[in-house]
Amino acid sequence: TTRRTVAVLGATGSIGGSALDVIARHPQRLRASVLAAGSNVDALLALCRTHRPDHAVVADESRFAALRDGLRAAGLPVRAHAGAAALDALVAGEACDIVVAAIVGAAGLDSTLAAARAGKRLLLANKESLVLAGELLTAAARAGGATIVPIDSEHNAIFQCLPEGRVDAGVRRIVLTASGGPFRGRSRDALVAVTPAQAVAHPKWSMGPKISVDSATLMNKGLEVIEAHHLFGLPDDRIDVLVHPQSLVHSLVEFVDGSTLAQMGLPDMRTALAVGLGWPRRIASGVCGLDLLAHGRLDFEAPDPQAFPCLGLARQALQAGGTAPAVLSAANEVAVSAFLQGRIGFLNIPDLVADALAALPAGAASTLEELRAADAAARRHALSALPRHAP
Ligand code: NDP
Ligand code: MG
Repeated sequence: TTRRTVAVLGATGSIGGSALDVIARHPQRLRASVLAAGSNVDALLALCRTHRPDHAVVADESRFAALRDGLRAAGLPVRAHAGAAALDALVAGEACDIVVAAIVGAAGLDSTLAAARAGKRLLLANKESLVLAGELLTAAARAGGATIVPIDSEHNAIFQCLPEGRVDAGVRRIVLTASGGPFRGRSRDALVAVTPAQAVAHPKWSMGPKISVDSATLMNKGLEVIEAHHLFGLPDDRIDVLVHPQSLVHSLVEFVDGSTLAQMGLPDMRTALAVGLGWPRRIASGVCGLDLLAHGRLDFEAPDPQAFPCLGLARQALQAGGTAPAVLSAANEVAVSAFLQGRIGFLNIPDLVADALAALPAGAASTLEELRAADAAARRHALSALPRHAP
């Protein structure tokens, strides 16, 4: 077998670290050839020492000299690059066969699109790029001949349950499971005063701060409904959501013959990453199998729409179509970051997103320019509306 080269975008993050862990278990089969981060040069340098890539990229151009000098001082034969254009060129070129798209937020869109257009195997964790530009991204992958392997655990589970990873006439519906986050079971009133520290303390998954807050509001599940729509081509009413607090069943597919297939495993993203990195073969991930006797039971319940309105807002944006999902996701990014900074309360997150959706009606979204403009307008609107939604 030939050794595949892997570009890990968002290498210094939670998914990036899990991807590098799996890659390092398969030195004959895989090699991390490109490592990219946003601005954290110290963490990127530490990864370069361990993984010895050919290229290291920092998105923040003001950090270029620090990266270059750090690599030199460490005597590492790694080429330093900075900026989004350099990253896109590396992703599209000969430097990698496989791209792990694990940058957080809309900042990941360009590099994800570049990988799709260039026909790479695209291990897609960056769900915001699908929410923002799902049609353009899946069309680019088709045109470029790229294979998208979803890394988000729910979509990876569905990918594993579907024949050839695709929905056909035999599929009735899919069911996304949700852990319910740290505030599962609380009433709306009991959510007024929750703090950022409480919101990021996820009971089952260890993740970056943005997606942890999204899990606490259930916006994460809303973004995942939109993500599933684009990945699997199903309408909103054939994508159901069930809260499953044990986080062992990662999602399910119901077929027309009455069969339901589920994928199960411990909540550890290395399993999904190994599915993508080894595809179409199974490779070791370092994750143990399930001891169902030790877990004992699996519970399922319906999500509470009063306490967690974000899921309904996301469905509303998907039904409205056009630029509405881009507005939802951009306003949510602004709201989550304001919440993490202590500027707004937890329940102000859905308020702010609803405000942006109401103020910016869905327009046509057939080009990247239209989507970028909607994203920018939603960020401006959300920022200006922040004071009105402060606690
Ligand atoms: P983290 O916050 O842990 O990591 C984010 C990464 O993105 C960091 O490497 C960061 O670099 C980098 N980054 C941020 N901004 C930029 C930029 N402008 N250009 C280039 N790189 C940038 O996030 P996670 O790993 O938790 O999540 C990554 C993505 O995967 C998200 O879209 C999330 O929704 C998705 N996902 C994550 C899961 C998880 O278990 N964590 C599960 C399912 C999906 P730096 O360190 O320099 O800031
Ligand atoms: Mg998920």
